[in-house]
Amino acid sequence: MSFLELADSSNEVNVGGGSIEVMDLHRRDISDEQLRRFEQYAAEMFSAFGMELDSPATTDTPRRFVRALLDATAGYEGDPKLLTVFETECRGGPDCRLSQVIEGPIQFYALCEHHALPFYGHAYVGYIAHERIIGISKLTRLVRLFARRFTVQERVGQQIADGLEAMLAPHGVAVYLEAHHLCTQMRGVQETAPLTRTTFWRGEYENNPALRAEFFTACGLQR
Ligand SMILES: [Zn+2]
Ligand SMILES: [Zn+2]
Repeated sequence: MSFLELADSSNEVNVGGGSIEVMDLHRRDISDEQLRRFEQYAAEMFSAFGMELDSPATTDTPRRFVRALLDATAGYEGDPKLLTVFETECRGGPDCRLSQVIEGPIQFYALCEHHALPFYGHAYVGYIAHERIIGISKLTRLVRLFARRFTVQERVGQQIADGLEAMLAPHGVAVYLEAHHLCTQMRGVQETAPLTRTTFWRGEYENNPALRAEFFTACGLQR
């Protein structure tokens, strides 16, 4: 299917090349033979670490683990449904510099590239449109495209901001992420589960503290 076939509405435009690059895709070509080998590695590790692999519940666990890991990192494959945006009219004036589109919380799950263990939480995404807008469901797709990888929280936020800039050329982008990192929480003896918070500001948000405050208020976050 071509990207043009995905565009069925008259004011949908295809944003090609630049936004594909910014998606930083790694098409994966993994053979069945490789998958079987990975299952053997996983079985060897699980059994050495203490799992009984000969029960009906666990005999298939190495296979399920490898498939689950492949699914959890599917963001490298891209998402063609992201490549269409809608044209709108920029009327200029103050609205154009101040009117925000804000979506959140968007649940996301990622794997930390230092431990390959999950970090998960919520993303809030805002932008100030110029001549293009994106469907709200596409914002969720964009977040998941970058979260479903081996990554770090800072990079997920930067890639969401870069992706929106490349697709929409908006007047500004705001991204706020808050996440629990299981690589620290599962191993330590901690009473509380800390949230790691990161923010990314582009365009109008960079120099306008009132816009940033309004973004947090609209997200229902106390700042
Ligand atoms: Zn980690
Ligand atoms: Zn404008």
